[in-house]
Amino acid sequence: MILEIRAVPPFHKNGFVVGCERTRQAVVIDPGDEIDDVLAVIRRLDVHVVSILLTHAHIDHITGVAAAKEALGAPVHLHRDDLPLYEHVVEQGAMFGVAVQPQPPVDVFYDTAPLCFGDYEVRVHHTPGHCPGGVCLRVGRKGEPGAHLFVGDTLFAGSIGRTDLPGGDYDVLMRSITEVILLLGDEATVHPGHGADTTVGRERRTNPFLLEYLAMRRTKPS
Ligand SMILES: [Zn+2]
Ligand SMILES: [Zn+2]
Repeated sequence: MILEIRAVPPFHKNGFVVGCERTRQAVVIDPGDEIDDVLAVIRRLDVHVVSILLTHAHIDHITGVAAAKEALGAPVHLHRDDLPLYEHVVEQGAMFGVAVQPQPPVDVFYDTAPLCFGDYEVRVHHTPGHCPGGVCLRVGRKGEPGAHLFVGDTLFAGSIGRTDLPGGDYDVLMRSITEVILLLGDEATVHPGHGADTTVGRERRTNPFLLEYLAMRRTKPS
């Protein structure tokens, strides 16, 4: 599998190019302010991008969608529950004090069917809590359990997503992490929307927010 990651200030949000080494088909995940670097990677790798995939619609994850769609001509995919956020990207920018252009319309809402690029497929797991339409994009070879999880801002190495933005919900987030992501295999690599990669197993064993939540759940009388 081809995997390239780029991030730039001010948000240091990871933008990903994930490709099939045999067919040169690829997807772009969360094009943001680093889109020029991502497009340079795509040209250097000589891959053909078939889909633009969004983990969620917070501003830092979508500011490069217009440039990506114009350069690549690929459809934009989002979870339906994040459409209000997506359509209010200009207002999101105002909240953070940055000027943002509206982005092009979403082409496809995720459903249960896997998305394919070359010999690989993407399975979409709804993981709300950081925002209503957050997803975990699980990537692997066709027919195999995917071992690469693109989790957006749901889970980070040693931390969890914030839940204080509109539509955020701590209990929902913790259920998404413990009842969806933690079940996808300790060996799976987690690619968060910000910062370094980690694994499901490492977060299960060492993430202080998960340890506290799981301990609290064990001791809570039911
Ligand atoms: Zn976010
Ligand atoms: Zn983010």
